Amino acid sequence: MSWGLANLKHAMRQPGCPLCRLQREAEARYLENLLWENVNDPATREQWAAGLGFCGRHAWQLQRLEARRYGDGLGNAILYEDLLQRVIPVLEAMAQEPARPLSPFEQWLARVLHAPGRPGPRGIAGLHGRARCRVCRLGEETARAYAEWLVEGLTDAEIQERYTASDGLCLPHLRMALARAHDRAPHAFAWLAGDAARRLRLLLKDLQEYIRKHDWNYRHEPMSPEERKAWIRAVAFFAGEVENNGSLDD
Ligand SMILES: [Zn+2]
Ligand SMILES: [Zn+2]
Repeated sequence: MSWGLANLKHAMRQPGCPLCRLQREAEARYLENLLWENVNDPATREQWAAGLGFCGRHAWQLQRLEARRYGDGLGNAILYEDLLQRVIPVLEAMAQEPARPLSPFEQWLARVLHAPGRPGPRGIAGLHGRARCRVCRLGEETARAYAEWLVEGLTDAEIQERYTASDGLCLPHLRMALARAHDRAPHAFAWLAGDAARRLRLLLKDLQEYIRKHDWNYRHEPMSPEERKAWIRAVAFFAGEVENNGSLDD
């Protein structure tokens, strides 16, 4: 059995989406290694600079990690010193060259040339990273690799059984696995879709009971543990489990 499939089987025994878990673990490992030995590694620093740091979620994860693990902030301090050295000259250049309104042609050009979400005016581009958050990209690559292992593994009855007993994939990872299966594994494609539909029917029932039992007339009816968590399970399904979700791990 491949190393990937072994990890996947282990994750399927834990609560929550197995791909979310494996993705979170890979992201956390990257951040731990970064603080432990790679803060001064040129390749790592290049990735950090290219993203102008990490996304909000991973930046704060790194901050919390260093505060909790080391009771200190030297690693973060070194990384952000680097970013400040890059951002300050951009702002100083902007300060010396006051903005001038763009002509209609220049506005059109700016719209065409700039990626969506990137503001057009000259100079501001220097305040954006050139690349997406390195940790997000690494996490997605990891999840994609496991999605592939899962799709291949689903030809095996034991993996199917293990998957059925797990909490199943969240929607972002279900999409990923279905996209992998679509052309190469039509059986796994149909099997995954059917399994997800069955799970969501049960979730819908629990959610409807949760809503019904909030009605004054039915308040005395006890809720099952599944019903009590139905609304949180719905968030986890649609959004994926980006944080260590205590309420699902209980
Ligand atoms: Zn997931
Ligand atoms: Zn990120």
